[in-house]
Amino acid sequence: MNDPILEKIQTLREELNQHNYDYYVLDTPTISDYEFDQKLKALQELEKQYPQYNDPNSPSVRVGGQITKNFSTVTHEFRMYSLDNSYSKEELEEWEKRVLKLLGTEKVSFVCELKYDGASIDLTYRQGKLVQATTRGDGIQGDEITANVRTIGSVPLTLRGDYPEDFHIRGEIIILKEGFKKMNEQRIAEGEDPYMNPRNTASGSLKLQDTTEVAKRPLDCLLYYVVGNNLPIHTQFESLQKAREWGFKVPSQSQLCHSTQEVMDFINYWDIHRHDLPYETDGVVIKVNEYQAQQELGYTSKSPRWAIAYKFKAEQVSTTLESISYQVGRTGAITPVANLTPVLLAGTIVKRASLHNADQIAKLGLHLSDEVFVEKGGEIIPKITGVKLEQRSSQATPITFITHCPECNTPLVRNEGEAQHYCPNAYGCPPQITGRIQHFISRKAMDIEGLGSETVELMFRAGLIHNYADLYELKAEQIQDLERMGTRSAQNIIKGIEKSKEVPFERVLFALGIRMVGETVAKKLAKTYKSLQALRTTSYEALIQIDEIGDRIAQSVIEFFANDLNKAILERLERYGLQMEIQETEAPISDVLKGKTLVVSGVFARHSRDELKALIESHGGKVGSSISSKISYVVAGENMGPSKLEKATQLNIPILSEADFEKLILE
Ligand code: AMP
Ligand code: ZN
Repeated sequence: MNDPILEKIQTLREELNQHNYDYYVLDTPTISDYEFDQKLKALQELEKQYPQYNDPNSPSVRVGGQITKNFSTVTHEFRMYSLDNSYSKEELEEWEKRVLKLLGTEKVSFVCELKYDGASIDLTYRQGKLVQATTRGDGIQGDEITANVRTIGSVPLTLRGDYPEDFHIRGEIIILKEGFKKMNEQRIAEGEDPYMNPRNTASGSLKLQDTTEVAKRPLDCLLYYVVGNNLPIHTQFESLQKAREWGFKVPSQSQLCHSTQEVMDFINYWDIHRHDLPYETDGVVIKVNEYQAQQELGYTSKSPRWAIAYKFKAEQVSTTLESISYQVGRTGAITPVANLTPVLLAGTIVKRASLHNADQIAKLGLHLSDEVFVEKGGEIIPKITGVKLEQRSSQATPITFITHCPECNTPLVRNEGEAQHYCPNAYGCPPQITGRIQHFISRKAMDIEGLGSETVELMFRAGLIHNYADLYELKAEQIQDLERMGTRSAQNIIKGIEKSKEVPFERVLFALGIRMVGETVAKKLAKTYKSLQALRTTSYEALIQIDEIGDRIAQSVIEFFANDLNKAILERLERYGLQMEIQETEAPISDVLKGKTLVVSGVFARHSRDELKALIESHGGKVGSSISSKISYVVAGENMGPSKLEKATQLNIPILSEADFEKLILE
């Protein structure tokens, strides 16, 4: 190997791998984020220029860029068992006795580990490279989510040290408490609802189709189990140390225990100190240390006999239910909230508990002034788990769900099959009106400088705005007398509003607040339709043809544009001069594909399908959607549909791999 380019690429990859490891696993970065980004950019540039040196485990894959439409199901080489649970010290002692009896000994050592609360994952490594990542699924089969997992910084793509040729390692994909908090703060600042708990958010993130989105989530991976044939390891504790040496993130809290007493001490210690850990834990896993002994004990139909989980009790207190308030969200959803007599729980004062919906209240059978049990589970907001019935007075009145909107008095509706009540008065209900305007001005939407949620609230209450189009008719004189305003800030707001007329179409589309149309979908629609005019005259059938646009999104888009109020508002926005079409893209890079139509199919290692389509267009070609005799080439990735492939072969259409295609456009 004496190609200087390849050497340069490899040096950059090694450096970046090392920095990733320092940052995510050791938590001690040695260079600044800026320097890291520079190196990453340099690598991406080279990889783009010299696609022949691409590697699916290059650190550049951390940033995402690939779309997975369907996750394929794979069978686990080694079954992923679940764990038996125990909830008391007695149950745990019984398990230990059983283990000793089965082994016919009097002493056995255990490893105590914390039970990480996330989504389980199986990683396959061959020759020190990550080759596959799979969810647990039903334990026998799981989903293949390798591309998504490659974006997680603490998952090593390339191993270090003296690793086995071929093995699996298992662990838990989690979100650290700190990262979760930051992510939610950002969501709230952007007018979006916060995520409920780290665990569900972590497992939901693994099934996102766009790896770029996955890369943005603060995911982490904690490992606890090495699996394989003929591994050079003899105990669980040794496996944890080895995994650490190979570059995995293995929490340091695990402990080798030689007696039942030591196991109990570990549990008692962490029952109190778990709140100080950077990650969520819901218990301790106790494992027999020696592999030999593990083998003798074997498995039941669903779990190993050599391990057991001890679940911590959720902290619980009781307090009085004083009243219920009902909150109306931006989309009109009604959320009941319990107001409680303040009480101390897991280190914080609790005054409110979420109740989710009417069913929840009915299930608990809540009455006013009930003495209720409150728990903090994985959720940040505590929940009510039960009622002290013996303390209820005979006069207590049961709580009945409201029938009318607390904000606008419109009768509430509840759709068939949905748990939530809604206020249908979308255009007349104050929190829905202001919520929509607040979304419109938020950072990822119109990003109107100088204007914040509270000012929107004030303007609305002063009768100055009723919808987001009204913003564009505001005069500085009208707003300067509002609370905490002044001539200067009033002028700034007007300037900010004026400037938002330059915001590109895709963000305008997102800002409109069409239900189910988030940032990504808005981008997709803008790219596909290119103008508001084209989008508002489209059909449901055309919409669902688009990648990633399903029935519910299509329905919602059609409804939005059919609404007369929306029509009037959109006309005004157009008249004020907002961007209602995408800016023409740059001139083509070349015309090597002039007169040719290409079909892109399957999943690719280095480009998303959209990127490939953009490349075709920027080299003068056209993108076709189905195989016919008019097609010049098919660019085929992995998992291309067999019928498409057959048709292309029948018609003698040349099939290009990703690399062939790159060569074609580079010539
Ligand atoms: P459960 O989902 O309650 O049956 O608990 C079993 C799951 O706990 C396993 O499938 C693992 O995903 C997870 N788990 C978390 N931490 C550990 C650990 N340290 N050792 C083994 N399993 C763990
Ligand atoms: Zn209402």
